[in-house]
Amino acid sequence: MHNFLPIAYFRNQFVPFTDANISIATHALHYGTAAFGGLRGIPDPQNPQQALLFRLDRHCQRLSNSARFLLFDLSADKIQSIIVDFVKKNQPTSSFYIRPLVYTSDLGISPRLHNIEKDFFVYGLELGDYLSPEGINCRISSWYRQEDRSLPLRGKISGAYITSSLAKTEAVESGFDEAILMNSQGKVCEASGMNIFIVRNGQLITPGYEQDILEGITRDSVLTLARDLGIPTVERSVDKSELFIADEVFLCGTAAKITPVKRIENYSFSTKRPITEKLREKLTAITENRDPQYQDWVYTIPL
Ligand code: PMP
Repeated sequence: MHNFLPIAYFRNQFVPFTDANISIATHALHYGTAAFGGLRGIPDPQNPQQALLFRLDRHCQRLSNSARFLLFDLSADKIQSIIVDFVKKNQPTSSFYIRPLVYTSDLGISPRLHNIEKDFFVYGLELGDYLSPEGINCRISSWYRQEDRSLPLRGKISGAYITSSLAKTEAVESGFDEAILMNSQGKVCEASGMNIFIVRNGQLITPGYEQDILEGITRDSVLTLARDLGIPTVERSVDKSELFIADEVFLCGTAAKITPVKRIENYSFSTKRPITEKLREKLTAITENRDPQYQDWVYTIPL
């Protein structure tokens, strides 16, 4: 069971988390017609009177885009101001995760997005490591990532996460920690809730947007950092076989941060991971506001 933050934003107001409940007839629960975000924050290690949120503006914009796919007009500015108030009301004392969600809140049947009430809520929980920072073992999933022609994959649409759930459980129940999914073309796509990078001959490689990946904010950050550090980067399709001969492999996401991959199926990787570690060190320093160069990636909220 998680430690939820005490206050939620629900039906246009801040209420105790335990009072923020929905009906069993809620439309989104039946049809997956919802979209969510996921942000990480920490109390500022240098000043406990404030909290730090990583790339708040980007997360709010992505959620606003996701809402648009559901025909729900919710501006990034509005999401941002609610999230800032949410953090102030909760006064977090340890590392936390914020989950905003837009959904069809109507009570009624028939899958649709028109002529239907929608709503937006926010809650949070304390969150330490999501995957082991020491590294994980991955399985190639027998489930494939959906295609953009079937649903808007650039949004974090709730219904899409049935595939992530199938893949993750298949991986864990067969003795692995995480799943790597291919796309419908058989190219490497992403993990159940993280983007994927490989390193070959000093070059950092990750599947491009045309590979049906989520527009990951950590992915975008890693690419920027690598370029600024002088590490050559390329966004291109990656074959499954390329994974097995990579020098380094890591997954990245808001919850997972940068998580090294130790093994995929029966192929093990070296424990020397100079590029993964360099990027991880840099990302950690930025999220803790210890890197003046990327200060604009960290939003400070006075508590
Ligand atoms: N892919 C999927 C399917 C995800 O759910 C996530 C987590 N949001 C990611 C990638 C990583 O995205 P981000 O870095 O924005 O958290």
